[in-house]
Amino acid sequence: MSQYQPTERTQVKRLPKRANYDRETVFQILDASFVCHVGFSVEGQPYVIPTNYGRSGETIYLHGSAASRMLRTLSEGVPVCVTVTHLDGIVLARSAFHHSVNYRSVVVLGKARLVEDAEEKMEALRIFTEHVMKGRWEEIRWPNEQELKATTVLAVPIEEVSAKVRTGGPLDDEEDYALTVWAGVLPLGVVPKEPIPDPKRRNEAEVPGYVRKYGRQAG
Ligand SMILES: Cc1cc2nc3c(=O)[nH]c(=O)nc-3n(C[C@H](O)[C@H](O)[C@H](O)COP(=O)(O)OP(=O)(O)OC[C@H]3O[C@@H](n4cnc5c(N)ncnc54)[C@H](O)[C@@H]3O)c2cc1C
Repeated sequence: MSQYQPTERTQVKRLPKRANYDRETVFQILDASFVCHVGFSVEGQPYVIPTNYGRSGETIYLHGSAASRMLRTLSEGVPVCVTVTHLDGIVLARSAFHHSVNYRSVVVLGKARLVEDAEEKMEALRIFTEHVMKGRWEEIRWPNEQELKATTVLAVPIEEVSAKVRTGGPLDDEEDYALTVWAGVLPLGVVPKEPIPDPKRRNEAEVPGYVRKYGRQAG
C-alpha cells in the first residue's frame, strides 16, 4: 500500500489540501532529518523532548541512556507522538495576514516497543548511526556489551501518521497585489560548514568523503 489510512486522530483539519498520507512523502520527510520531538505525558504533565532518530522501513528508532526518563516512560508503552519538521522558507506576503512558512512535517502517533533482542538492538543502532551520517558505521568501533546495556533502544511503528507540506510563494488578496511592498520567499536550509578536526586526534586520517559531501534531501 502506497498510502497511509488517515484516522480520526491524523486527519489534517486546517488547510487539508496540504495534508499528505503518501508513504513515499512520509519517508522522504523522515529521511531528510534526524532530529524529532517526542511528546508523551507523565502524571498529566505533557513533555516534548528533542531527540535523534533513525528510520528503517515502517519503524522509527529512538535511543538514549537507560536512565533517561523519556526512554523509561516510553518503554512502558505510554502513548507517544513523534514530530519531525523541516523549515524550507519564510513566505513574505504583502499583507501581515498572508505571511507564512514553507515546511514539511510529519506527525506519528502510537506506542513504542522496547528493543530487547541483542541482534535487533545492534542493527537498530547501526540504522540510527547511518541515518545521521551515512557511511559512519563501518568505520567506527561498535558498542560493546557494557555500552549496549547502558543504552535503551525503542521502536516506534509508522502506522498512524500524517504529513503536511507547504510550498510556493505568497497567496495574497487580489487588491494587495497593487502594493509596492516586496513579496516572495526567503528559502532556508541546513548547510554543512567546514569540518573541525578533533585536536586530540592521534593520526592524520583524511576527513572522510561522507563528511566532506554531507547533505540531506532538500524539500
Ligand atoms: C538535537 C538533539 C538531539 C538529541 N538526541 C538525543 C538522543 O538521541 N538520545 C537521548 O537520550 N537524548 C538526546 N537528546 C537529549 C534529550 O533532549 C534529553 O535531554 C535527554 O534524553 C535526557 O532526557 P531525560 O529523560 O534524562 O530528561 P528528563 O528527565 O525527561 O528531563 C527533565 C527535564 O529537563 C529538561 N530537559 C530535558 N531535556 C531537555 C532539552 N533537550 N532541552 C531543554 N530542556 C530539557 C526538561 O525540563 C525536562 O522536563 C538530544 C537533544 C537534542 C537537542
